[in-house]
This record gives sequence, structure tokens and C-alpha cells, in this order.
Amino acid sequence: MARAKPVVAIDGPAGAGKSTVSQRVAEALGFTLVDTGSLYRAVAFLAAAEGVSLDDVAAVEGVATRAVASGRLSLAAVARPDGPGRVTEVRVGGLFPGDAIRTPAMSMGASQVSAYPGVRAALLDLQRQFGREGAVVLEGRDIGTVVFPDAEVKVFLTASPEVRARRRLEELQARGVEADLASVLHDVIARDARDAARSIAPLREAPDAVRVDSSQLDREGTIDAIVRLVEARAGR
Ligand code: C5P
Repeated sequence: MARAKPVVAIDGPAGAGKSTVSQRVAEALGFTLVDTGSLYRAVAFLAAAEGVSLDDVAAVEGVATRAVASGRLSLAAVARPDGPGRVTEVRVGGLFPGDAIRTPAMSMGASQVSAYPGVRAALLDLQRQFGREGAVVLEGRDIGTVVFPDAEVKVFLTASPEVRARRRLEELQARGVEADLASVLHDVIARDARDAARSIAPLREAPDAVRVDSSQLDREGTIDAIVRLVEARAGR
């Protein structure tokens, strides 16, 4: 059955500007923003907290499956304090882990555990729940290909590795995390390779996605282009 409001899938590699762009697009449309990467980060965080090695596939899959089934890992939509629309917050044991899931180690950990089939399966329903009614922007890697292959609007947001590494560095520095450009660039390339090479839900562009290269467009231009696309599709 057709949804009354569209599902907007914004996929792309790390550092393409997805977070800011998705947030601003959701705000402009009054939609709920679903940050799906936070779920993979939370699994890495939970496994580390439970002393489970991230190399132990079965154990990490067990952590994810149990955490979702018991409700220990959940996603809550909360009103945005500073504007229209809602945003999802990942909860671990009822608590909001905040920046603890946003360290470089958790980025690598999230990328590692996201290649495990049992982890992806455990997180699939949580993501779909939030999209069922439409009026959502989901930001991730496989939203347009796996989670919502029937999304009304699919955007593949990308940028050169150098541009993405520079942005990531600025983000980390703004949060007071020490890092240098060479190691951030190294991590960006390593994460891309792993995200693209994994056999399950690899990072790839949906055939019907609109490709937006944010190294060639400024941020406002990118946001505008996507909002116009959603309005055009919704008005069909
Ligand atoms: O977007 P973010 O950097 O928070 O994602 C962290 C990691 O989680 C990514 O490197 C990717 O490996 C994984 N991920 C994924 N599928 C998604 C979202 C994130 O595999 N839909």
C-alpha cells in the first residue's frame, strides 16, 4: 500500500556530509530523521562494554540479537529541541550513550560489526519500524537497496575521500577529539573498502538513486537540491 508521506533514503560513504545534510533535509520537511549508523555504533559499544571481542562474529551477533529482543538496544524518536521534526536517539539500557559511540574506535568497530549478517538482521526491523508511516529521512549505507528498496526518494550522497577526511577531521576536532588528517584519511579509505567489499549489504548505489556529489556542491545547494527532489516526487 502506498504511504501517505514519502520515505527518503540518503545513503553514501562516511564523511560525505550525510549527517548534516540529512538533518537539514528532515528539518526542512518536518520529517523524522533516522540515523541508522548509530545502531551499528551501539552494537560495537555494547559488545565492548560486555567484554566481547569484535572479532568473534557469533558472540557479537548474539549481543545484537539479545539486545534488540530484550529492548536493551532501542531507537526513540524525540522532538528536536531547536526546530521542526523529530530525530531518533539510540538507547542502550534506557540510556543515551551520546558521544561515547562517536569516537574513531567506535567508527571502526561499527564498520566491523556491520559486516556480520546476524547484526544486520537484528537491526533491520528497528529501522523499518520507523519508516512504515513515511515522513522520514533515513541516513545510512543500504537504506535504498535493502532496508527500503521501495523508498519514494533515494539519494546517494558522495564526495572525494580527501574532502570527506577533511570534514571528518573538523567534526572530531570540534568535539575535542585529537586526530590528524593522514590518519583520518587512512580510516576513511579503510572504512570505504570494508563497507564496499563486504558480501552482505555492501555500500553500493541503488540503480534508481539520484547521485549527488557534495565535493562539487556547497552544503546549502546540496540540501536544496534534495528538498526539491522530495517535493517533486511527493507532488506526483
Ligand atoms: O554513518 P556512521 O558513520 O555512523 O556509520 C558507522 C558504520 O556503520 C559505517 O561505517 C558502516 O559500516 C555501518 N553502517 C552500515 N549500514 C548503515 C549505517 C551504517 O553498515 N545503514
